[in-house]
Amino acid sequence: MTAVSTDRLIKPHGGELADRSGAAPDDLDSLEVVALTSREVSDLGMIASGALSPLEGFMRQEDYESVLEEMRLANGLPWSLPVCLAVDAAPKGDRVALADEAGRKLAVLEVEATYAYAKEAEAQQAFRTTDEGHPGVARLYAQKDNYLAGNVTVFDRPDPQFPELALDPRDTRSAFAERGWKRVVGFQTRNPIHRAHEYLTKVALETVDGLLVHPLVGDTKGDDVPADVRVECYRTLLADYYPQERVLLSAFPAAMRYAGPREAIWHAICRKNYGCSHFIVGRDHAGVGDYYGTYDAQLIFDEFEPHELDIEPMFYEHSFWCKTCGSMASAKTCPHPKEQHVFLSGTKVRELLAAGEVPPEEFTRPAVAEVLIEAYRG
Ligand SMILES: [Zn+2]
Repeated sequence: MTAVSTDRLIKPHGGELADRSGAAPDDLDSLEVVALTSREVSDLGMIASGALSPLEGFMRQEDYESVLEEMRLANGLPWSLPVCLAVDAAPKGDRVALADEAGRKLAVLEVEATYAYAKEAEAQQAFRTTDEGHPGVARLYAQKDNYLAGNVTVFDRPDPQFPELALDPRDTRSAFAERGWKRVVGFQTRNPIHRAHEYLTKVALETVDGLLVHPLVGDTKGDDVPADVRVECYRTLLADYYPQERVLLSAFPAAMRYAGPREAIWHAICRKNYGCSHFIVGRDHAGVGDYYGTYDAQLIFDEFEPHELDIEPMFYEHSFWCKTCGSMASAKTCPHPKEQHVFLSGTKVRELLAAGEVPPEEFTRPAVAEVLIEAYRG
């Protein structure tokens, strides 16, 4: 069987997919071991697969500083968030083994440098706040005090939570090419898909060849709906309401950073590596609390020239069912007053589900509501 050419798809960020997978060295047992947090393990796997192309390891200081100050790597390529490995002190040797929290060795890092960093400054630039009530800032403040830079060779990766949804950029690119897709829109989500987001994905799909539903399954904060429940919701919805030949469901293995605008850029760049030519950016993308303005995650795209990111952001308003229109709509397309709109806050939806009540079907597909009610019962 010959592989289908992926030449028609968008090029990876920086031009080539990085591939940092490789064999374990013979002297692995003699190397000093650095234990990674689960977020760092997520990043490591994404470096290995090329999802963070062009990164080939954890960031060196000039890239780190340039990313924080300019939203670019030192070579000028757009990049919005640090991808760093925090350690207590510089290792003694010129190579170290990287292990997960349980001690399972995953990779070797060629030590390039160890450097100190300023947590508050990073928080302000990456998260636009130094408030430790922000989950990303809290995690940053809890980190070790130095960053260890260097390229990695990854010989083992943690078992994915959803093996059949674990597609690397090479896999999604092949899947798109096999289906004859050229223009593909990526949809990032960390929530169940209600009618509003179903609508956005379908409006986007009307203008391109295919849709990648790419829920984030790495670490999220405790009150987000657990990934296994969400995945069951996605499967249920996609099976009944999307044409199978136009949609691909796969898991995005990143950990949430809750960096709002900068994370929207980062999410878009990652999806470009997975082969998406377009990326959906809703209101308050990757936000948390009220740290970011409603449209900040859309406005930040203006800080780049359009050709620089290459992937095309698609911006959306909140959408809702309008009783007078008799359809899904948004403030852009519906002239009717709010009373005609079926809209529930996230809090209200959680209350209904927790009480075993089905939200209106104009808001949530009943089959999806059933999955959620069942999960709340458990
Ligand atoms: Zn209307």
